[in-house]
Amino acid sequence: MTEKIYETYSPEETHALGKRLGAEAKPGDVYTLVGDLGVGKTVFTQGIAEGLGITEPVSSPTFTIVQVYEEGRMPFYHFDVYRIGDIEEMDEIGYEDYFYGDGLCMIEWANLIEEILPERRSEVTIEKDLEKGFDYRRITIREHQEDRK
Ligand code: ADP
Ligand code: MG
Repeated sequence: MTEKIYETYSPEETHALGKRLGAEAKPGDVYTLVGDLGVGKTVFTQGIAEGLGITEPVSSPTFTIVQVYEEGRMPFYHFDVYRIGDIEEMDEIGYEDYFYGDGLCMIEWANLIEEILPERRSEVTIEKDLEKGFDYRRITIREHQEDRK
């Protein structure tokens, strides 16, 4: 596991970090995204989308578990599993085609579906630290590899 910590001091910086990751992403990459309400998950996700070349607006998938964006250089699968009642709902939408597919997955509230998360994934955690200012965010990215190398 490798861990990288980024510090941002404005929404623009968080957006730019997401954009860089989107630009560097490879098909099949899976990101999980954790952080309190209002911390900047959507700002970060919009950066990722822009980095993939998506121009249509990206917000949270309110009425569906997954929102698919096809216009970038690879598909973008944006999951919000907050409202999931049972893990079987993931089977019903055929989640494996997304998790092990040819696009970039971003999964919000991934802790609710821990048991089916791919081993190879990057966990993004966004946190505030009010002592460092109202707009400060610490963004930690932990890369979990598969056991084999
Ligand atoms: P979430 O999706 O996690 O609920 P949003 O991305 O919708 O949060 O909102 C984050 C809010 O925090 C925005 O109003 C944004 O302008 C503000 N903000 C202030 N500083 C930052 C920062 N460093 N990074 C991201 N957002 C920030
Ligand atoms: Mg949001």
